[in-house]
Amino acid sequence: MPNVDLHCHSNISDGLLAPAAVAARAHANGVEVWALTDHDEVSGVAQAREAAAALGLPFVAGVEISVTFANQTVHIVGLKIDEQNPALLAGLAQTRSGRERRARKIGDELARAGIPDAFAGALQFAGNPDLVSRTHFARFMIACGACRDVQDVFDRYLVKGKPGFVPHQWASLGDAISWIRGAGGIAVLAHPGRYKYDALAFDALLDEFKAAGGAGIEVITGSHTPDQYGEYAQVARRHGLLASRGSDFHGPGESRIDLGRLPPLPDSLKPVWHDWEW
Ligand code: AMP
Ligand code: MN
Ligand code: MN
Ligand code: MN
Repeated sequence: MPNVDLHCHSNISDGLLAPAAVAARAHANGVEVWALTDHDEVSGVAQAREAAAALGLPFVAGVEISVTFANQTVHIVGLKIDEQNPALLAGLAQTRSGRERRARKIGDELARAGIPDAFAGALQFAGNPDLVSRTHFARFMIACGACRDVQDVFDRYLVKGKPGFVPHQWASLGDAISWIRGAGGIAVLAHPGRYKYDALAFDALLDEFKAAGGAGIEVITGSHTPDQYGEYAQVARRHGLLASRGSDFHGPGESRIDLGRLPPLPDSLKPVWHDWEW
């Protein structure tokens, strides 16, 4: 089975490396088919494609769209998209548009919790001022000594119930999937093991995802534990979904799993790339 890695980030969103450097690292790590999937943004795709072509690395244009479903944030990866599709670009621009206001509020909340100037601090870590994410706040809070590592920041400050959490309304599930499909792409439910739904709500998510034309689910991802590889392999089989594999790499020393360093998909699953040519 080829070493396929269909989920990672560059500094166009909350990764640490420029798109060309992510391509080089994927290639050096033995990735044979690679997708860049920045959050809510496709402006790194052209550079990524060019760098991949120079390396002889088959490339897939991707994106990871932030969605709100049943009061939680869900991520939908779009693969094989036409990154110039106008409706996709408009949808992504709309999805990004609330980020700055949200980031300023996160800064205000953190100031109340005793960490001043976090918005300006986070902005300094953002490669793209249009895309300030919680990851940039995490990097700032480590740099200023408030926290030990990224996990420590999230656990203590940036998740629901903690002082720096600001609820946000992202795209709807149906819109995100229709933007992806309208751009010729395949919609994949990202890292399902991260969501905190009960069984009923998770089934509702899968039903709505499929009804809207969603086709795949990440089984082998850097966000899953080995137990969850098996758990979501079963979900993929039970729901007739194509299976995907992606590291969700954000940067050296920061991500648990490096590009291309995941276990293979279980043989019994139909890969999302089953009918691709590269
Ligand atoms: P945002 O889109 O601004 O809400 O930021 C979401 C990003 O934060 C994700 O894409 C991850 O990179 C990171 N993230 C979210 N939750 C965690 C967590 N528990 N630990 C580490 N990173 C996280
Ligand atoms: Mn991220
Ligand atoms: Mn994600
Ligand atoms: Mn991701």
